[in-house]
Amino acid sequence: MANQRPTIYLDHAATTPVAPAVLAAMQPYFSELYGNPSSIHRVGRRANVALEQARRTVAEAIGALPKEIIFTSGGTEGDNAALRGIALARNAATGANRIITSPIEHHAVLHTAFDLRDHFGFDLTLLPVDRDGLIAPSELERALGDGHDIAVVSIMLANNEIGVIQPLAALGELCRALGVPLHTDAVQAAGKLALDVTELGVDALSTSGHKFYGPKGVGFLYLRHGTPYLPLLTGGSHEGNRRAGTENVPLIVGMAQAFVLVEAERAAESARLRVLRDQLIGGILEEVADVYLTGAPEPRLPNLASFVLRGVEAEGVLIALDLAGIAASSGSACTSAAQQPSHVLEALGITAPDAHGGLRFSLGRSTTVDDIRYVLEKLPQIVTQLRGG
Ligand code: PLP
Repeated sequence: MANQRPTIYLDHAATTPVAPAVLAAMQPYFSELYGNPSSIHRVGRRANVALEQARRTVAEAIGALPKEIIFTSGGTEGDNAALRGIALARNAATGANRIITSPIEHHAVLHTAFDLRDHFGFDLTLLPVDRDGLIAPSELERALGDGHDIAVVSIMLANNEIGVIQPLAALGELCRALGVPLHTDAVQAAGKLALDVTELGVDALSTSGHKFYGPKGVGFLYLRHGTPYLPLLTGGSHEGNRRAGTENVPLIVGMAQAFVLVEAERAAESARLRVLRDQLIGGILEEVADVYLTGAPEPRLPNLASFVLRGVEAEGVLIALDLAGIAASSGSACTSAAQQPSHVLEALGITAPDAHGGLRFSLGRSTTVDDIRYVLEKLPQIVTQLRGG
């Protein structure tokens, strides 16, 4: 029978619970403050005030101008809008037809890049990553050449499967010197790393509310003023003519509130999680035989630790962990359902049999030292059992 203790949720990279203060902030915008922010009358104007306040809040937190924020339906839309919107606009204006990205991007970026290659005539360069999952700025420099044919570069800030953080500022400098737009998928980084767009040197940055204790189905895309861009969705003149469709005011208000809360506690919470993460990493490497950490030990997200457990199927480990009351993941939420070995681990040069033993723990607000102790008690037993020991 399944363990009756409350679930120890160590899958915050997949999604997070909506914070109570976020739920409270959203609630009135579902009912009494239901206006359409485009309406002239006072009911609409009240919704518009909340919408524009949310825009200012988010902009300020990342060092952007309010007009540089486009509200989206989440990370997938933000990534699509940035890649397609910038690539198609640059191509139309200058003829630039090459996209540069990395093989460890989330599918929201990678499959969009493949689609632009396969159906829209773009050339695609995938930068190599080393065994630790890091991209060398010299590789980007080489791929950029003189930059004249590059439509857009997209490199994620932090990886969702292995937590590795890329040297975005150095990559941004190279792009800026050649006038090439740089997009970053900051979906996993938001709330854990500083997202100052000037320091990062990016022209576009996408996020997703549900990864930082906000609601699902909402995110924001930062688009630097003056960046060539064609909208993904056409229709009304919402979002400065860059994203048609009546704004989802309650979700946007909730996301902005969630972002304020994670930013306020980011330094202290990151330090707390880093200690727990390192206890988990140290404990697993010590207590489980034939295991290794995937991705560079540093720089990595403070809340993420991923491993290969040799000679076991991650699926079996996850089921056994679940029965013990522990929620973890075999990598990204999407690939775990697809049962495909992870494209990220493959790009790191990890063999297919090893990649089948990929396991990810992602910590969050609810995680305690007791949770980590419990995992360190259960996981070695589970792995030994599955190995037939
Ligand atoms: N990019 C990264 C790095 C992610 O981890 C995710 C979600 O797992 C996404 C994009 C997609 O975000 P959403 O679920 O909001 O579409």
